Amino acid sequence: MAGKLQVVICQHQGKNPVKRHLEESIAAALIMDDGLDVSLVPHLYDMSHDHTGMLFLRSVPGDVVILSWLYPRSARWILDRAGVRGHEGVTMLTSDDDDEDEDEEEAEEAPELKGIGAVNVPNRKIYCIDMRVRSDLDSFITELKRISADKSVKTFDLMNWIQGNPKQEQLERYLHPERMLQAAGNGNGNGNGSVNGNGNGHAHADVLPEPTKRRWYPVIDYSRCTNCMECIDFCLFGVYGVDTVDRILVEEQDNCKKGCPACSRVCPENAIIFPGHKSPAIAGADGEVGSMKIDLSRLFGGESSQSALEMAVQERDTELVADGRHAVGMSIGIPKRREHQDEKRDELDDLIDGLDDLDI
Ligand code: SF4
Ligand code: SF4
Repeated sequence: MAGKLQVVICQHQGKNPVKRHLEESIAAALIMDDGLDVSLVPHLYDMSHDHTGMLFLRSVPGDVVILSWLYPRSARWILDRAGVRGHEGVTMLTSDDDDEDEDEEEAEEAPELKGIGAVNVPNRKIYCIDMRVRSDLDSFITELKRISADKSVKTFDLMNWIQGNPKQEQLERYLHPERMLQAAGNGNGNGNGSVNGNGNGHAHADVLPEPTKRRWYPVIDYSRCTNCMECIDFCLFGVYGVDTVDRILVEEQDNCKKGCPACSRVCPENAIIFPGHKSPAIAGADGEVGSMKIDLSRLFGGESSQSALEMAVQERDTELVADGRHAVGMSIGIPKRREHQDEKRDELDDLIDGLDDLDI
């Protein structure tokens, strides 16, 4: 029996009806498609590593398309940390802004990434698509069919690969997305995948089994991370650790302080992502400002003229004090960063001098 390409829709955290409707429309269209299998899981960032949605994702052996409300870089490295690995699949579905940028910057080459990279990457592809890039169903279906038609795509028959650990019954809800839609009061129960049950076309995450709660933790992009360990020196909340081969990892995700992105400002390689942060650079958008971690929106925004490092220190102190501990200012976890800044002094000097010249 020919296999199908597995598509996984990671649901939005909120109950925004427009977003829910798009998720359900895509799921309903794919249920009817012979070449694609579709599953719905909760929001990717919010699932713990032992959530059955993550177990399901780890169980998919072939190529997989992940549709989420996250920048693709965020989605890819969240998956990597959870043991869902593969080579990056190329998607044509990018934001209109990206398309324009590419046109304008045709000759500009992507910067060379010097990170330590992912380990134990199986020979399959993971395509991550940000659902915010389009609002119409057709764009998604066209792109999914394009990927599915690619002869190099590795597919498996859905019902044959679920065996052993985890057990099929554990993953049942993900194998039958039409039942999940129905459970949410939206399926019409006839199994044809149309979503019109209660007339409003909205699913509700709170009726889904095994709900998630909103989380906040750093995600490391290993294509950029050089294993310099500045983040583990800087964080005083026990979030970071090292693995068995001395690679940095986010060990205790839920020790991180909600809303605080301090260590992302300290990382010299822009390798630390907080997918829920309002600034695209911190939330995992691809761009960066030179090779320096400087939040220009803050420099230009008039909120303060602090450097990224000063902001990070202040954010860390705020969390320490909130925990009943003493503020430490620049006294802990900073020296290596200073050395690093000294090494890159020419680049930093150029940028600061440029800003000085603007007389702002
Ligand atoms: S500071 Fe950045 S580059 Fe250095 S180990 Fe941490 S994540 Fe990697
Ligand atoms: S944001 Fe703060 S608490 Fe969270 S990992 Fe970074 S330094 Fe640690």
